[in-house]
Amino acid sequence: MFTEKEAVAIDVKTRSVTFDDGLRMEYRKLFIATGSKPKPMNYKGKDVRNVFHLRTPEDANSIARLANNKNAVIVGTSFVGMEVAAALTDKAHSVSVIGIESVPFKKALGEKVGKAIMKLFEANRVKFYMLNEVSEMIGHHGQLKEVVLKSGKVLRADVCVIGCFFPLHCCFVLALGGDFGPWIWPVSVEFL
Ligand SMILES: Cc1cc2nc3c(=O)[nH]c(=O)nc-3n(C[C@H](O)[C@H](O)[C@H](O)COP(=O)(O)OP(=O)(O)OC[C@H]3O[C@@H](n4cnc5c(N)ncnc54)[C@H](O)[C@@H]3O)c2cc1C
Repeated sequence: MFTEKEAVAIDVKTRSVTFDDGLRMEYRKLFIATGSKPKPMNYKGKDVRNVFHLRTPEDANSIARLANNKNAVIVGTSFVGMEVAAALTDKAHSVSVIGIESVPFKKALGEKVGKAIMKLFEANRVKFYMLNEVSEMIGHHGQLKEVVLKSGKVLRADVCVIGCFFPLHCCFVLALGGDFGPWIWPVSVEFL
């Protein structure tokens, strides 16, 4: 077992993996389990503070503290986003959820279940802005104050949580130039 080593390149022709310290190891079979990473999003105001990808216990504590009796905006309507929304309904002054689909969990659970879940959240004061995306985060003295949506709607915000992840932390795999689509692990492992 190696710790504190990052795999930075895979060469499928020579069947080898290169690590950040220059070590190169050959493999017979390769299994990649590098997890997920936040999906890059295109909006203005990337330097504004109090916008989180929930990755660490410190992030969770900061979100809970900043949302207390304040306005929370959540981007993403799948497992992470909806879990955060649920956790904040009885803590935050307001909880707004932004999603690119028509209902939450649409891809994972379908339209019908998504609609029912949306109603349940709405009954608990959560406001949804669906078929929408963030266009800008506006800060005051560097701290988040407003989230502007592509529809033009402006939401008051003291904290924003972005719950959009790539299912695969695979930059070095993608660097190979092959199409290792996120849901085709068995195929890519076989291919390697
Ligand atoms: C906020 C949040 C809440 C979640 N809640 C749940 C839940 O309630 N239930 C549930 O089932 N799932 C939940 N998940 C999802 C769950 O965390 C993931 O599905 C799970 O961690 C995936 O495991 P993994 O081993 O594939 O990846 P990870 O747990 O992400 O582990 C990947 C490992 O690979 C390492 N790594 C990455 N790149 C490299 C590299 N180039 N070289 C070497 N090492 C590398 C990382 O350091 C890490 O140690 C949640 C996720 C988040 C973010």
